[in-house]
Amino acid sequence: MQVTEQAIRDVVGQVLAQMGHSGSPGAAAANLSKDCNCPEESGRHCQCDDKKTEGVYTGRYGLFTDVDEAVTAATHAFEQLSMHSVEDRKRIIGHIRRISIEQCEELGTMEMRETKIGRLEHKIEKLKTLGEKTPGVEFLSSQIFSGDHGLAVIEHAPFGVIGAITPVTHSLPTITGNAVSMIAGGNTLVVNPHPSGRKVAAEGVQRFNRAIYEDLGIDNLICVITEPTLESADAIFNHKGVKLICVTGGPAVARAALNSGKRAIVAGPGNPPVVVDETADLPRAAAAMIAGASYDNNLLCIAEKEVFAVDSIFDLLLEEMEKAGAVRLSASEVTQLTALAIQTVGEGNQRHDVPVKEFLGQDAAVLAKAIGKQVPADTPLLFGEVDDSNPFVPVEQMMPFLPFVRCRNSDEAIAKAQEYEHGFRHTAIIHSNNVRNMTRMGRLMDTTLFVKNGPCMSALGLGGEGYLSFSIATPTGEGVTSPLTFTRERRCSLIEDLCILGK
Ligand code: NAD
Repeated sequence: MQVTEQAIRDVVGQVLAQMGHSGSPGAAAANLSKDCNCPEESGRHCQCDDKKTEGVYTGRYGLFTDVDEAVTAATHAFEQLSMHSVEDRKRIIGHIRRISIEQCEELGTMEMRETKIGRLEHKIEKLKTLGEKTPGVEFLSSQIFSGDHGLAVIEHAPFGVIGAITPVTHSLPTITGNAVSMIAGGNTLVVNPHPSGRKVAAEGVQRFNRAIYEDLGIDNLICVITEPTLESADAIFNHKGVKLICVTGGPAVARAALNSGKRAIVAGPGNPPVVVDETADLPRAAAAMIAGASYDNNLLCIAEKEVFAVDSIFDLLLEEMEKAGAVRLSASEVTQLTALAIQTVGEGNQRHDVPVKEFLGQDAAVLAKAIGKQVPADTPLLFGEVDDSNPFVPVEQMMPFLPFVRCRNSDEAIAKAQEYEHGFRHTAIIHSNNVRNMTRMGRLMDTTLFVKNGPCMSALGLGGEGYLSFSIATPTGEGVTSPLTFTRERRCSLIEDLCILGK
């Protein structure tokens, strides 16, 4: 075998990685055999390596127009990552967390300017929260079986390169959460972002990769297609180098992923209903519904989308909504808004209602203005009474208008909630102090998230218990994704040894 300088670097890197050296194998090797003119900067990767590793796209910091190149780069990054310790994965994730937290204002503002949907304060908060709360390598605990016949250890191994599709509603936040979880599991990823959030996706990914590369000498752990199209999504679905796909989006992409022939983790659409029964704490229910339904102007897939409240408390509940700051629309105003904000598309049995794009994620004041109503600019939410023939009830509106349907009793409210959730099995919410109603609704709805007496976000650990992810796998059943979602179980068995109990 010819002993090249690169081979020496690789061996030194491997030895240091096996010794648990937390620095960059590349940087360490570069410092041992320096034959270049790069400035010597402690802890930084020697820039000459950019040239020496040409062909695996070092120095691109994850930005690609071509899917094949991106998968090649991510495959190489996966091979490099596999030589590093779990402690190094934690360090890599630390860079993603730090950038998401420290640069949340700048990146959140970029996301807001580019996508033009949602609320700036929430764009910023989402990045910060994902940086802080997405679970990391601590989720990878092994299971151990020990007995007379020896020892079996079940560990969690990576898949390799994961293809990820991300939505416009949370472009960089979804990438941030996916990257933390997937890299914690030892994987790398190639992302096809929504075209309307592609610039902030590229900017964030570039910042993450640059920081990781400068510290550990690995580039392209997260690759992003900078000019994403349906064709590039399809190329990711069909690329033999992509071992798993994870899509976060609406019905079309969920269907495409399920038909791709690859193992897919699908975080699909929702239309979360809320039931309010006669035992609910009404001021608390109103405050929670406003907090959840107005968050980022109703863009969250888990957000309250329609309310079924029992007749005996219906009028009081609407009064509480007004007291808590939401603005009530009259019946004729609701009719006007419906005509403007919901449209019918498709033909024949494909005919269905969808939200009008111009109203998606807009402020409540913008919606009000469209129907000639002036409300304060900081109004969080509009709401109004409808019957369930109003399209706002079945449609995932993703705008801050919440329709309220009057129901005879809790049985009718729960039945309607089940009907209008459409079997997505995504999220359902109840405000009640009757544990029987909670139980009945929980059983019937069979949703991935079921929230009692709080805003939707509390199901993701924001004001409730549990952990956070912005990819909630609903049709495929993995639930709130975590590093474990992106791993394969591997069992390592030792027969009749290392069992030190008994004879
Ligand atoms: P969208 O479905 O329009 O787009 C999502 C992504 O899929 C984009 O990157 C888009 O380019 C891509 N895409 C769309 N059709 C495709 C196809 N046929 N083949 C390949 N790629 C395709 O959704 P959006 O407006 O960006 O996001 C909102 C939707 O996402 C809502 O339905 C919401 O409920 C859902 N969502 C779900 C979760 C979850 O965790 N379950 C999280 C966020 C958003």
